[in-house]
Amino acid sequence: MQADWLSFFEYNASEENPEEDGVSTVIRSVLALGAHPDDETILAGGTLALLSSQGTAVHLRSATRGEGGEVGDPPLCARPDVGRLREHELREAGRALGAASVGVLGYVDPLAGEDDVLYPFEADFDELAGRILAAISETRADVVLTHGRDGEYGHPAHRLLHRAVQAAVEALGEPVLMYSWAARVPGIADHLWNESDPAHLALDVRPWLDSKAQAALAHRSQNQLFLRRHPGKTLREALRTVEAFHRHFPRCENGSPHDAFADLLRAAGAWEPPPRG
Ligand SMILES: [Zn+2]
Repeated sequence: MQADWLSFFEYNASEENPEEDGVSTVIRSVLALGAHPDDETILAGGTLALLSSQGTAVHLRSATRGEGGEVGDPPLCARPDVGRLREHELREAGRALGAASVGVLGYVDPLAGEDDVLYPFEADFDELAGRILAAISETRADVVLTHGRDGEYGHPAHRLLHRAVQAAVEALGEPVLMYSWAARVPGIADHLWNESDPAHLALDVRPWLDSKAQAALAHRSQNQLFLRRHPGKTLREALRTVEAFHRHFPRCENGSPHDAFADLLRAAGAWEPPPRG
């Protein structure tokens, strides 16, 4: 069931829930927006599975088809077909996570340069923000989940997308929440944490690990790369079991977000990590 877009915002903008931060009172739709197919699964797959299991419409969008990524080992396709393969893998992962829709924004992921130098995808910034706005509108998203300020391990495509999502939600002028994934949790070592984004909420996703593992397996072309980074572990063992989030919009002044998304995560067992440590 979808409320009419405008009346929905009127409802949410009303003073019915003055203790909340002036944003959505109900989460009906979440847009998970990554730069490459598999970012959504590796960085937030357990949470996405939780959301869809609770009836929230989860929409997956990738800015690119991951054309610059690995073709698998042994190769699953010829180099020119990797984008098509990875879009297909994203759709399979979406099925595993119970996604309501899956799509790409249509940018092209460049190959890594010498010494594995990573590049962003080529995009006019305003046009990229426009495509993000269109995706928010199309999916009627109450929450956008995306990359952190540091692009996790500094990936320039992740950082570009973070900035563009921030610009899009600010331009929207409507109460859409922006959270980033892989927020830093003190006391848990993880090379993908964004140091600049202290976690507002952290969630133990082991109850949804089956779905996350199934989605990770669906990204078949990337499985060997992932396993090389976690020697001696199976794919399932290598998946992070704590997923953590930082709210960027509206800015969370006191480190403790109060909105319907935060409430939903808390009800699923999320905790507020101490800001330092
Ligand atoms: Zn990525």
